[in-house]
Amino acid sequence: MKVFIVIEFLYRDIISEKWVIVDWKTGKESAEDRNQLALYALYLKKKFKAPLEKIEIRNESLLTSKCRTYSLTDFDLDTVNERVQLSCLEMGKYLIDEEENIPVGIEYFPRTSYEKKCIKSNFLEMCNS
Ligand code: SF4
Repeated sequence: MKVFIVIEFLYRDIISEKWVIVDWKTGKESAEDRNQLALYALYLKKKFKAPLEKIEIRNESLLTSKCRTYSLTDFDLDTVNERVQLSCLEMGKYLIDEEENIPVGIEYFPRTSYEKKCIKSNFLEMCNS
């Protein structure tokens, strides 16, 4: 399954020979920030054969003006890879035909009972129609 990612900024520091991935955050820090960057690092490793020790991942917070740099291990990449695989499997349960991208019936997608979520939902218009 093809996974699409959108890296905000990536450059190669030719002095340190490091690949640097930068992601700007407008909101609060979350545990997911590191996982998101780990996914980008996995892409670099697979696509460009970039050695993990030469990949630097960084969050720049626009809210606090702080920068956080993470170092990753093979375990981190294995974990994020596994999460992607599990997520694909979960999504696959909602398809009758994966090749044609045909979903199961609408009855398998119940509305949330926590309606506060709906305000920010990308599917609000579709859901209310
Ligand atoms: S609007 Fe979004 S969050 Fe609310 S029920 Fe529909 S899909 Fe779920």
